[in-house]
Amino acid sequence: MTFEETTGSVLTPEAQVALDRATGSAHRHHELLSDRAFHIKQSAVRDVFDISIRPGLISLAGGSPYLQSLPLDGLADAAAAIIRTQGLAALQYGPGQGLQELRELACEVMAAEGITGADPEDVVITTGSQSGQDVAAKVFCNPGDVVLCEDPTYVGALNAFEAYEVDMQPVPMDAYGLIPEALEERIQSLKAAGKRVKMLYTIPSFNNPSGVTLSADRRDEVVRICRENNILVLEDNPYGLLRFDGEPLTPLRAAHPEDVLYLGSFSKIFAPGLRLGWALVPKHLFRRFYLACEAVLLCPSPLTQMITAAYLRDFDWMGRIRDSRRLYADRCAAMLSALEDQMPDGVTWTVPDGGFFVWVSLPEGIDTYPLLTEAIEAGTVFIPGAAFTPGDEPSSRLRLAFSAVSPDDIREGVRRLAPVIRRAVGD
Ligand code: PMP
Repeated sequence: MTFEETTGSVLTPEAQVALDRATGSAHRHHELLSDRAFHIKQSAVRDVFDISIRPGLISLAGGSPYLQSLPLDGLADAAAAIIRTQGLAALQYGPGQGLQELRELACEVMAAEGITGADPEDVVITTGSQSGQDVAAKVFCNPGDVVLCEDPTYVGALNAFEAYEVDMQPVPMDAYGLIPEALEERIQSLKAAGKRVKMLYTIPSFNNPSGVTLSADRRDEVVRICRENNILVLEDNPYGLLRFDGEPLTPLRAAHPEDVLYLGSFSKIFAPGLRLGWALVPKHLFRRFYLACEAVLLCPSPLTQMITAAYLRDFDWMGRIRDSRRLYADRCAAMLSALEDQMPDGVTWTVPDGGFFVWVSLPEGIDTYPLLTEAIEAGTVFIPGAAFTPGDEPSSRLRLAFSAVSPDDIREGVRRLAPVIRRAVGD
């Protein structure tokens, strides 16, 4: 059900589950559904995505990458050549682990961020980081197991883990990312309550939705705390190369190959529509992870892998990333200055060093879910903060994305949003 079908009103996550159960119960096969099926929530992001394509609306909701700089003619020629010269292999089943060449190229991408010497044999090609999260949940988690995550965290990860009846436990962050003391404390209190803590799911660089980055001096400590408590770190790093200035921060995986399962993605550095990413798996866990990937997919698409390999091999992908960094930096700057100009006192926001998102905080007690309907009427759209934490608590936060909108539209979008926020804070 989209917002249009709900006559423009916004369903809270709780109402979504109720609706799901109610409509499901009228269905003949309702009793056949697994308990798990009811843990898969309708994604607020997908809902808003449906609305975002309305003409005239400025969407500050979707975190889509900027694709206009892709060399489309060159890619079309490359794709045609692949089908013409390697068509039978491209259209046939391929290796379950993914093509050797793309696994090697994934290692080159990781090397650009500081993960050196990764073995392509430890890489499995996925259909995006999203599918890596699903496989990680499947391979490591029984119902009721705990996975720690940042507060806030990526809505897609909440959905992936909660589908396996995982107990997602948020750990507080500050402007420097996950707070190590809070992580330690949370682990000890969960253990004392008899919980089994399996994993930390973390987006250390340019967290979605907050834009916050785990500082260099906290990185080793976070992994050390997890190691000492026998918790695997699941590092999700789709944005790491998209730092506005300076060198990317070294991923957690670089110094901790046995403690970190790393998820990479071609979505933000190339094209999300090809649905490809990779997992770099600690050697001692590789076989289980790989078998689970194969059980889901048989194999990732050889055709899209060949196109991606051709892009990374024959085009200046690094040059394009350098250009994208500048483009995203300009867009982020436009958003920050528009917020500065337009937002009333009491409203604050994060200042990201990269990635796609700014996280806006309204005074405590204001629920941003109902504001979405007003924002749509005003001609813009955002994602309410409640989507990014486990549970059904209202949130006074909201996510704004600057990646896919021109600076002028960003300024206009924030101008449209401002009166909605002013009314909410009583300004
Ligand atoms: N992880 C994070 C943190 C994301 O923001 C996204 C996409 N928005 C994904 C994973 C999904 O990436 P992919 O396209 O590789 O599945």
